[in-house]
Amino acid sequence: MSSAVVVGGGPNGLAAAITLARAGWDVTVLEAADEIGGGTRTGEAIVPGLLHDHCSAIHPMAVGSPFLRGLDLERYGLTWAWPEIDCAHPLDDGTAGVLLRSVAETAAGLGGDGRAWRLLFERTAAGYDRMSPDIMRPLLRVPRHPVRLARFGIPAVVPATLLAGLFRTEQARGLFGGVAAHAFHPLHRPLSASIGLGILTAGHAYGWAVAAGGSQRITDAMAAALGDLGGKIETGVRVRSVSDLPPAELTMWDLAPTAVAEILGDRLPPRIRKSYQEFRYGPGACKVDFAVHGGVPWTAEAARRAGTVHLGGTFAEIAATEREIHRGRMPERPFVLVGQQYLADPQRSAGDIHPIWAYAHVPHGYPGDATAEITAQIERFAPGFRDRIVGTSVRSAAEFAEYNPNYVGGNIMTGAKDITQLLFGPRRTLQPYDVGVPGHYLCSAATPPGPGAHGMCGVNAAQRALRR
Ligand SMILES: Cc1cc2nc3c(=O)[nH]c(=O)nc-3n(C[C@H](O)[C@H](O)[C@H](O)COP(=O)(O)OP(=O)(O)OC[C@H]3O[C@@H](n4cnc5c(N)ncnc54)[C@H](O)[C@@H]3O)c2cc1C
Repeated sequence: MSSAVVVGGGPNGLAAAITLARAGWDVTVLEAADEIGGGTRTGEAIVPGLLHDHCSAIHPMAVGSPFLRGLDLERYGLTWAWPEIDCAHPLDDGTAGVLLRSVAETAAGLGGDGRAWRLLFERTAAGYDRMSPDIMRPLLRVPRHPVRLARFGIPAVVPATLLAGLFRTEQARGLFGGVAAHAFHPLHRPLSASIGLGILTAGHAYGWAVAAGGSQRITDAMAAALGDLGGKIETGVRVRSVSDLPPAELTMWDLAPTAVAEILGDRLPPRIRKSYQEFRYGPGACKVDFAVHGGVPWTAEAARRAGTVHLGGTFAEIAATEREIHRGRMPERPFVLVGQQYLADPQRSAGDIHPIWAYAHVPHGYPGDATAEITAQIERFAPGFRDRIVGTSVRSAAEFAEYNPNYVGGNIMTGAKDITQLLFGPRRTLQPYDVGVPGHYLCSAATPPGPGAHGMCGVNAAQRALRR
């Protein structure tokens, strides 16, 4: 039997491992941390029994991932749960933009902007399953469904600021801007809407699901599926040089390109090594987990029922703060994402104390603790929040890089999503998974289709390896 080693046990490493094991390979995953999962882990942090997702939390891309759906992970204990409202975007006047799984119901709540919302999402969401093979792989390929892809792709290439011009109300503009900001990219740049459009389209097709019991359950289910296929996992093994690798015909790297450049060194062709060394990382995240008595007292009623709440005020305000963090300046009121997974998955709470997941967009490598800024943003839309806090746990952007070396400078996207890196991946090539050393492939979120717990980078890389 041919053997393969996968370095890194995040969702993409596990997806690559499963794809190879399914093809009959003898696979071993080597993971630096004491537990696998990378960005898909959950644990108790503040109050016993209270479950916090350490990184990924909300999963429209994973629940709709063609790979994960095909694995039937429910057999291994994974259950998806959906909140009543997918996402709310509260404003200072007490109103909110409200995102529901149904395009029609979302549009109905957006008043005069409902028509534009339908125009953008009705047909793409209905055709998501047929379109997703085209968007969940390198973009520069002959599309399987050109018309469907064009319907999605034409709005995706324009800057988010331009697309926001389709909407008149601050509710719709804010709702759209908050999701577009997931790209960690200035909203006035071309392609800045693409990641947000992908999340919104997948969400309208599959909903903003959470994994019952925490995102760790996605990891656990993938590990169990791999175990059934004979795959092995070794934790506490940090690969620092090629001599740390066991003999194998194939090596899959679920790592940041700069780390691969360091480990493979001059085994890499000089041009590729230089590209990896010069790979760009975007702004970072500072995350605060809160234990909150009685939940967050949002002024906007919809936010009390929403799995995700985006805090940044108007579209213009979000665009301005995203520009600031790109310039390396910490805004006074950063864009903040809040997760209330317990609404869909009550087992994460301890009695009336609930886990609140929140992170702020901050400059790359920002060493500071943004607890005060995050708390103030929540308080802005939920007066009285501060008095309900039972405890907090913080991880700064700098600490994220220690927690997981793939998050260089706290950049949880494993790379800046500028035009070149979005279109090509880690270097200018049509084969983004090849690292230029026979038998070695890159399979992390630095490769297409990019970040998220969908596993598709790992699948694509493993399929490329198998084809060769
Ligand atoms: C705060 C935060 C919030 C997020 N929210 C969401 C969300 O809501 N929804 C969503 O879909 N995604 C979200 N993400 C993104 C998602 O978690 C990542 O895109 C995803 O985990 C990437 O998977 P990966 O396998 O490429 O890498 P990772 O998950 O980063 O895994 C890489 C693994 O490699 C290991 N490793 C690194 N170096 C070495 C080495 N030298 N030797 C051995 N092992 C090594 C690491 O320890 C890690 O386990 C979030 C991420 C963060 C941090």
